[in-house]
Parts: sequence; C-alpha cells; structure tokens
Amino acid sequence: MQAGPRSEVKTTCPYCGVGCGVLASVAPSGEVTVRGDADHPANFGKLCSKGSALGLTTGLEGRVLTPEMGGKPASWDAALDLVAERFSETIARHGPDSVAFYVSGQLLTEDYYVANKLMKGFIGSGNIDTNSRLCMASSVAGHRRAFGEDIVPGLYEDFEDADLVVLTGSNLAWCHPILYQRLLAAREKRGTKIVVIDPRRTATADECDLHLAIDPGMDVLLFNGLLAHLERAGIVDRSFVDASTTGFAEALAIASADGSSIADVAQRCGLAEADVRLFYELFAATDHTVTVYSQGVNQSAHGTDKVNAIINCHLATGRIGRPGMGPFSVTGQPNAMGGREVGGLANQLAAHMGFENPVEIDRVARFWNAPDIARKPGLKAVDMFRAVGEGRIKALWIMGTNPAVSMPDARRVRAALEACDFVAVSDVTRNDTTRYADVFLPAATWGEKSGTVTNSERRMSRQRSFLPLPGEARPDWRIICDVARRMGFDAAFDFEGPAAIFREHAALSAYENHGERLFDIGALEAISDADYETFAPRLWPQPRAGEPSRRLLGSRFPTQDGRARFVPVRQEGVALNVDASRPIALNTGRLRDQWHTMTRTGRVPRLMSNAPEPALEIAPEDARSLGLKDGDLARVSSQYGFARARVSVSEAQKPGNAFLPMHWNGQFSANGGVGPLATPITDPFSGQPELKHVPVEISREAVA
Ligand code: SF4
Repeated sequence: MQAGPRSEVKTTCPYCGVGCGVLASVAPSGEVTVRGDADHPANFGKLCSKGSALGLTTGLEGRVLTPEMGGKPASWDAALDLVAERFSETIARHGPDSVAFYVSGQLLTEDYYVANKLMKGFIGSGNIDTNSRLCMASSVAGHRRAFGEDIVPGLYEDFEDADLVVLTGSNLAWCHPILYQRLLAAREKRGTKIVVIDPRRTATADECDLHLAIDPGMDVLLFNGLLAHLERAGIVDRSFVDASTTGFAEALAIASADGSSIADVAQRCGLAEADVRLFYELFAATDHTVTVYSQGVNQSAHGTDKVNAIINCHLATGRIGRPGMGPFSVTGQPNAMGGREVGGLANQLAAHMGFENPVEIDRVARFWNAPDIARKPGLKAVDMFRAVGEGRIKALWIMGTNPAVSMPDARRVRAALEACDFVAVSDVTRNDTTRYADVFLPAATWGEKSGTVTNSERRMSRQRSFLPLPGEARPDWRIICDVARRMGFDAAFDFEGPAAIFREHAALSAYENHGERLFDIGALEAISDADYETFAPRLWPQPRAGEPSRRLLGSRFPTQDGRARFVPVRQEGVALNVDASRPIALNTGRLRDQWHTMTRTGRVPRLMSNAPEPALEIAPEDARSLGLKDGDLARVSSQYGFARARVSVSEAQKPGNAFLPMHWNGQFSANGGVGPLATPITDPFSGQPELKHVPVEISREAVA
C-alpha cells in the first residue's frame, strides 16, 4: 500500500518485541515522519527514543540496491539462478543436510513462512535457524517442557493488573521502554511493587522497590528457594496443583534440597538474607504477581532450567492464565514470535507442530504436498556455524542478520564463512557478514516491505510499505520464492504476494495441535487482499467468541493429559567460572538508544550522542586494583578473543563483574563487538548460547 503525499500509513516498529504501532507519513520532499499510533493496543500512541527516530533511518545512504555476484553488480536472473544452482548441486551431491538457511527475527512472518517451507518442506532438511535462537529459545524450550507447547500465558495488560511485578534478567526500561512506561503508569495508580533481579543496577533497578543484585547464573537457586518457601508458608494452591498439574512433589523435593533455607540461598546467590526474605514474603503474599523474564534468563547455559524454575513457582500458586498474574517472557526482536508461529527454529516444524510426533510431520507434509519433508530437527545456530566451519554445511543463505559479529566466538564464525563453499546473503546494507557473500541479494527494508509481525504478547500487526522499492531491491518473500521456483518447486511457491502467503499460514495454523480445529481464526485463511490491507492488530490465534483473550484458556494445558508439568530443576551455575587468569565476569546487553549491530540506529546522530562508543563498565574496586580510571582504553580478553573499549567506572557493577554493550560492529568500531569474546557454550535444551557470562581479563590497552 503506497502512501499519497502526507497521508499516514499504519505500520509497526521494526525494533523490539513490544511491537508498537506507528503512523508514518512521507512529505512531498521525501522526508519521512513518524508518530505513535494511538489505536494500537501495545503502545496507545507512545514511541520510545528508537521508535520516534525511525523517520531518520529511511534514507538510502549505504544501501546496496543491485544484486552482486563475486562483489560485482549482476542481474537478478543471474544472481537467483546461481543461488538455485549452487543449492541444487550441493543437495544432489551431498544430501539436503549439506545446506542451511540462517534467518532473522527482522523477517516478516510471511518471509519466515516461505523460508521454512522451502527448507523443511521441499529441500527436506531441518537446517533453518534464526538469530532469535540467541534471544528467546530458552523460553520456547521452557514453555514446551511445562505446557506441552510454546504458549504465551499472558498479556501486556497483566502488567497493569498486577500488584507485584518481578523483573528477572530484564532491563525493561531500556530494552522494552514502552512496556516499562505502561508498568510505571500502572504503579502510579495501583501502587504496584516492582522487584528487579539482575547482577547489574540497571535503569530498571533504579526505579524498583527491591533490587536483588544476584551473582551471575544463580537464578535457579533463587526460584527453587522460593518454591520451597511457598510450601513452608502454606501458599501452594493445592486444588490447582492437584487438578491441573503433574510433578509437583518431585520438583519440590529438589527445590527444597537445593534451597533448604533462606540464609543458605542468600549466601550462595551473593545477596543479603533480609532482601531474599522480603522478596519471598512479597511473592507469597501477592496473588496478582507477574514474573517477567528476558535475555538475562534466556542467554545462559542453563536458561531453560531458569525458565522452568520461574514457571514452577507460578504453577504452585495457580497464578497463571488469569488477569494480573503469570510468567511472561518478553521477546527481544520485532518478529521473534512470528518466527515461532511458522517454525522458524530448527527444532520446530510449522504452526507449533514438532518433529517429535510423526502424525504432525505427516499432517504438514500433506498440507504442503511435500513428500520429502524433513523428518528430524536441523542444526541450531551455534551448531550450524560449527558445521559450516567443519565443511558439513557447504551452502549457506543468510537473511537479514549479521552473524559475523553477533554470534558467539565470532572469529570462528568468520573463519567458517570464509571457508564455506557458497554463501548467499540477503540484506539491505553492507555489514561484517556481507564481505563473505558469493552472492548478495538486495532486500527491501522497513517502510518498503509489507507483511505481519507478532509481538511478545502474541498480537499480530501489519507492517505496511509507505515508500517505493528503491533501485532493484525486492521483498524477502519474493526472493525466496524466486529461488524455490528455480529449484523446481514451482507450484508450492506460486504466491502473488504476502496476503496469499498469510492465507496459507492461517489455514495451516487452524489445524495446529492434535488435528482438531482448536481455535477460531476468524476465517483468516480466506481473508481477502483488501481485508489483509486493513487488518487491525489482533491476538493470535484469535480466541473463540466469549472465551478469554489469552492463549492459555482457563486451567487446561496443551499436553496429552491437559495438565501443566512441574519440571524438577537443579542449580548448576555458569558454563565457565572466573579464575586467577580471567577474574572478571563479563555481562553483555543492550543500550537504550541502539538496536542490535546498529546498522539502522547507528545512522541517527541523536541516538549516537549518549553513547558514541562502547563503554566497559567496571566496579570502582576493580578499577582501582587494575589501575584504570574513567576514559582509559582497556583491552578485554576472553579465551575466545578480545575487544577494546573505554573504561566507565560505575557503582552499578558488583565487584568482579563488568558490562559491555552488544551493539558495536566492525562498521563502528575496530574491535568488532562482543561476539568475538562470547562463549559458544549453549543450553542443552534450547541451544541458546551463554551470552550473559564469560570470564575475562581486563588490562590497560597500550594504544591510546
Ligand atoms: Fe519500537 Fe520497542 Fe520502542 Fe516500541 S518500545 S517504539 S517497539 S523500540
């Protein structure tokens, strides 16, 4: 849908998982202005610093607008032919598992759908994974273990209906600012208590009622101790536990052994006993409690156990699936959730069906008319790049993401890309990854492309185009379908546009779960092109008339027996411990004004002005012992690589801990970001790497 002069187009912010509605308009001069969409139920007209600067990011400087082969301009036909030919040849010689797609939470659901359909349905491999693996895969795995499916048992309005909000591993103030503003506004009216559990005193912790500066990796113990306390305090909801769950006794036995006393839990977590006691008593006393978790929980070698330790406490109290209560995972990316809906993770199939159940595989195979469908999960992100480096994957297509800087152990990832037989990259600008591309495919970006995204509360919104496609850029769905047709899969990828893809996705989703038509999706499988254009934000799947507007309906869960599962979890700690040679625990994360590797936000001077270069935050005690002061240039070395950054001495850091923002890439800093420092050790269930903790040595850098 194109905008006329000064007309406003309703679209959705392309940054974080809050999924705010945006009204965008284009002046006759070409200047783009944005404002919040007052009708959008995520943000009601508000935008944060990043969202309100979107109009400044739509210029064409830095864009690559023609396909390239071997770094030279090429025609679309030649570039698409080469991608199809190299993938087909590789599959013929080495089998379907010798190729892979690495995609992105920046893709729209329709793009994700056709990429997943091509790889899993027609190439016949599970080797499609996404950078969302680095973001929320542990929440998906935890949801599946507890609920039988990746359900989202809450809504943003629960933040406003709660009397206690526990934010664990979530700097909501900076990473999900509009949701945080909704929480603060509710606190003004309701007096909501806010507890923050985070080793770092973040902007979120500055505003809370209680900050638990927990030692890294101790979350399971803290929540196991809480479960044991709830039992001791007589707060367990026996009727809910008996009627709607299994496994409570086993989970409680391990939790009680793990967190035998508040004093012991506090001592092992590096916390004051009085603070832990206060948290436990607040949780026990407050029926309307929401526990929010994000990357600080997910990005861990035991992230899935942490998620289940949190969910266990909500199941024990029956505080789930009702207004103002429940565990709630906030997603990092604009369409991490949409990718989950269509099977964008290597271990999922489509529409929340999985490889564990042959009936579900056959159902998707019949629906797609895809007899060669993959029958086993593919490689998750870290393993995928390891396989590229080892030569097991010989052709790789990277779409809309920058793994050369964002993946852990990024030096090894770059070496793998260098050695890979064939690399195709679809993106909008050159970045650290595009230099390894044999073929570059110029993709459309925000403002130019159309489709749907799904936010953290599983609400689907439209992204709509309001700018013409520049140069020869094309939308991702079209590039993928053009390659699929050239590989001989014409009929299955004969889509006229995103609306047709959406109809097919909706039709497949209508029959998700055990083959029953569980959800009324409002005839979305037959939505007209015109209705798709005017599509208003709505929850997905759409509840039946008269049923509660949440995915988790009442107290019945999508497991075989309809009961949620307590998962017994033990405190395990971090993957790598600090020692005498690397005595500092390095944490990484986002800044308020930047997004991912800054390929968009780095172009806006006002977003750069607060933090023009990466700052290494260290505690005053550590600065003293290392002989460092504010502004010194430091060298940070892990067992994987090194980075350079200016020192910022900060009381926000606990002694022995440091923080480095994740954003800086090779375009903005010679150090190449935090990827080269981070460990590729992953959670055994989710495959999510431990990006929040790596032991490092910090020293003064000789070069000023
Ligand atoms: Fe965009 Fe997130 Fe900011 Fe909303 S809160 S405007 S979705 S970055």
